[in-house]
Amino acid sequence: MKVLVAVKRVVDYNVKVHVKADGSAVETANVKMSMNPFDEIAVEEAVRMKERGDASEVVAVSCGVAACQETLRNAMAIGADRGILVESNEELQPLAVARLLEAIVEREQPQLVLLGKQAIDDDCNQTGQMLGALLDWGQATFAGKLEIDGQNVTVVREVDGGLETLALPLPAVVTVDLRLNEPRYVTLPSIMKAKKKPLDTLAPVALGVDVAPRIQTLKVSEPPKRPAGIKVPDVPALVAKLKNEARVI
Ligand code: AMP
Repeated sequence: MKVLVAVKRVVDYNVKVHVKADGSAVETANVKMSMNPFDEIAVEEAVRMKERGDASEVVAVSCGVAACQETLRNAMAIGADRGILVESNEELQPLAVARLLEAIVEREQPQLVLLGKQAIDDDCNQTGQMLGALLDWGQATFAGKLEIDGQNVTVVREVDGGLETLALPLPAVVTVDLRLNEPRYVTLPSIMKAKKKPLDTLAPVALGVDVAPRIQTLKVSEPPKRPAGIKVPDVPALVAKLKNEARVI
């Protein structure tokens, strides 16, 4: 079984983001970029499937600027066998990425596509669902547990007040949640090994995909600043403040 994993290059989750002075977008120049954390979990899961003998090959795909090669190398250091970069300097919105992934699926014929449940930069939570629909495959979102069982994949997902277990026939699209696993720490030898793994680069036109944005961002603004805290002299003063000033949320 071949597993395709979509990995996005995003601003590192430890970076405090700032909005550009013109309010057009978040500043990404000279900012540390990393693999979207949910995608790291997806790669880890695919690699564990290969280690268990459930998967025969793990292919990582990233869509974006040339620097996404670093993200793919990182996926290969975790254990992906090879990488595919769909290189574009355009802004790629979820529908464009889903269409590019659909074209890669047609070429690669994987039985399972894993994605993160959402990208931490745009918080869209759309790409996996759109890809499932475009392919007309079953999809399970927010997987907290995943098992391959013959021609099916079983997914356990957290829902309000409990856990839901789903079975989907393969091929399928699954988006992964935080609790699925804890990605391994990549070692120097695995980073060195990853440098020698194959990485193909394609252009969206070669895949016949129109990546033109369908949505226009009108404005990006910083959240309102929180007012500074105050010190209360004693417990009665704190209780009085909580009683009189606390807002009911
Ligand atoms: P989103 O719908 O933007 O929240 O993204 C959900 C998931 O889709 C991410 O966690 C990735 O697995 C995948 N994805 C989104 N954008 C890209 C991209 N440019 N390249 C590769 N994968 C992506």
